[in-house]
Amino acid sequence: MQTDLSDADLPIRPAPQASTATPAAPELTAGGSMPAKLLVPVEGIAYSQLSDTFDQPRGQERHHEALDIMAPTGTPVRAAGDGKVAKLFNSKPGGTTLYQFDPAEKYAYYYAHLDRYADGIKEGMQLKRGDLIGYVGATGNADPNAPHLHFAIFALTPEKQWWKGTPVNPYPMLGD
Ligand SMILES: [Zn+2]
Repeated sequence: MQTDLSDADLPIRPAPQASTATPAAPELTAGGSMPAKLLVPVEGIAYSQLSDTFDQPRGQERHHEALDIMAPTGTPVRAAGDGKVAKLFNSKPGGTTLYQFDPAEKYAYYYAHLDRYADGIKEGMQLKRGDLIGYVGATGNADPNAPHLHFAIFALTPEKQWWKGTPVNPYPMLGD
């Protein structure tokens, strides 16, 4: 299972060969397998309100590699895109988390620090973009005074393991 989760809320260990620089990921925006724009997964938050926190330093030689979307506890969290619930997982850093695979199972969307899941959310179920999956919270290592959704995208390995992948910056993938 997971290891080395002690110092950050990032659940994914980047592949050793992965660069720490921001992946440009041009293949994701040029008519690849992902939809051009994913939904901002927190209800009531517009794309223009987001700031790109992907490269924010988190400890030595670590980067955040995710987007933090600040919102009050209990704000609905919605699926950024279509695809199945790959895993419901509780971890020390991430708290109550959900991993979703895109329909092609090339990418995983990771939602962390949830206060709780939406009723009826189960592993294996198919989600549509915009479906309610849970509620913003501050579980895991989030500051209780700063509830937010920690949203990450990573490119899966050929084995399609929900806990493994190369981080991709979600910021340019989202839109209104
Ligand atoms: Zn975060």
